[in-house]
Amino acid sequence: MGATLKIYNTLSRTTEDFKPIHAGHIGMYVCGPTVYNNAHLGNCRTYISFDTIFRYFLHLGYKVRYVRNITDAGHLEGDSDEGDDKFAKKAKLEQVEPMEIVQRFTVDFHKVLEQLNTLPPSIEPTATGHILEQIEMAQKIIDSGFAYEKNGSVYFDVEKFAQKNKYTELSNRNLDELLNNTRELEGQSEKKGRLDFALWIKAKPEHIMRWNSPWGQGFPGWHIECSAMSSKYLGNEFDIHGGGMDLIPTHHTNEIAQNIACHQKQPARYWIHTNMLTVNSQKMSKSLGNSFLPNELFSGNHKLLDKGYSPMTVRFFMLQAHYRSTLDFSNEALQAAEKGYQRLMNAVKLIANLKTSNLSTVNCEVLISSVYEAMNNDFNTPIALANLFDGVRIINSVNDGKESITEKDKQTLQKLFNDFLFDIFGLKEEKNSTSENIDGLMNLILEIRNEAKAKKDFSTSDLIRNKLKEIGFEIKDGKDGTEFSIVN
Ligand code: AMP
Ligand code: ZN
Repeated sequence: MGATLKIYNTLSRTTEDFKPIHAGHIGMYVCGPTVYNNAHLGNCRTYISFDTIFRYFLHLGYKVRYVRNITDAGHLEGDSDEGDDKFAKKAKLEQVEPMEIVQRFTVDFHKVLEQLNTLPPSIEPTATGHILEQIEMAQKIIDSGFAYEKNGSVYFDVEKFAQKNKYTELSNRNLDELLNNTRELEGQSEKKGRLDFALWIKAKPEHIMRWNSPWGQGFPGWHIECSAMSSKYLGNEFDIHGGGMDLIPTHHTNEIAQNIACHQKQPARYWIHTNMLTVNSQKMSKSLGNSFLPNELFSGNHKLLDKGYSPMTVRFFMLQAHYRSTLDFSNEALQAAEKGYQRLMNAVKLIANLKTSNLSTVNCEVLISSVYEAMNNDFNTPIALANLFDGVRIINSVNDGKESITEKDKQTLQKLFNDFLFDIFGLKEEKNSTSENIDGLMNLILEIRNEAKAKKDFSTSDLIRNKLKEIGFEIKDGKDGTEFSIVN
């Protein structure tokens, strides 16, 4: 729509008019998952937010190249190059190859994002598939004087870089304070300065994921992969770089430093950061042990959950908060989201059958512009949804005969709901597994079991009972027939 899209840019800490480098085209890079574990719901929040942004750009008619990487090597447990390699640790624990870990959790990540109806990115490069590019970039940074090799590892010289560049521009932190607050790390004496970070890490003898490099066998640091892959696929300067807010102070700050040292260019025009999904106001994270897996939420199989919630309820729940606000997880909020999502879906079903007349008593144009206005204001999905709920009231009033609508307005309304709910917000109709459906299905299964019993085919009747128990249905044979109950 005509109005300008405004985006909050972490780099300038202001909301700016969005102008792509090449008219009509957008290059967007989003940091992907570290696939050593299942993606948790917090990770999903970030990817749903960027999926909605991606979908909105497509809706506006942009040609978007959306690059989201897979971190499948080089991510150590600590942000400052300390600790074990996440993949190696998990692989050792399970006595499998690190690449088996990578494969399993990449597949899981894709499955979960598909359940949440996110679109695949245009390119999904892996760190292990771009080792040469990372070595080349590290070499260029050494050549430009901002990195040094020590005992087979390569480190970025932060203090030297900061003499002429604003190292903390993105995080807006005070460099001296940062230096004072950063502890000397044991075993890190190879580094010249305490803020220096690894571009390449010498592999210890037991380290499996290792590659040859000009500095001996090793593996890349976490930050260099995103710099190498974003510039390979989007150029040295592109439109948008995104990720969760937790990536600002280290990962993204270091990415910017690497790109400037290598290409003399700040890589992205707009830096977009999503806020955290929290549980009791604490960031949901794998390491804090307060994370939910999407499947636990879908099935309700978790001690903090009253029941399960469908993927679309979860997506709707996420859309109800602006991507830059925290979103606290609670049963109550999810129950409210379930009702809200159903109300929207019910209204959409009504539109096609609304009776039309020669006169509209409702103002669809105002509704449409308010929805676009919200989205153009830094992708404000909660306001856009609130406006769509005004549309739901209109639909219900016309349906009840309290308001009237012309055929043209009805079509406009239908297009608005289809565009926003399905194309942009990525919601979809879910098959309704209401208790009614379950009752019908169970009665059918019990009938088959009774027939087996009548034929004295007890192995089949027992098999049915045991299998049902495995998936959470308990059946009891009584004098009034067979009854079932759902157990967790
Ligand atoms: P990771 O797999 O840990 O590298 O994280 C993948 C993405 O999820 C990153 O962009 C993180 O910033 C983001 N993320 C991690 N925890 C949360 C959370 N609790 N809420 C929202 N995003 C998160
Ligand atoms: Zn990254």
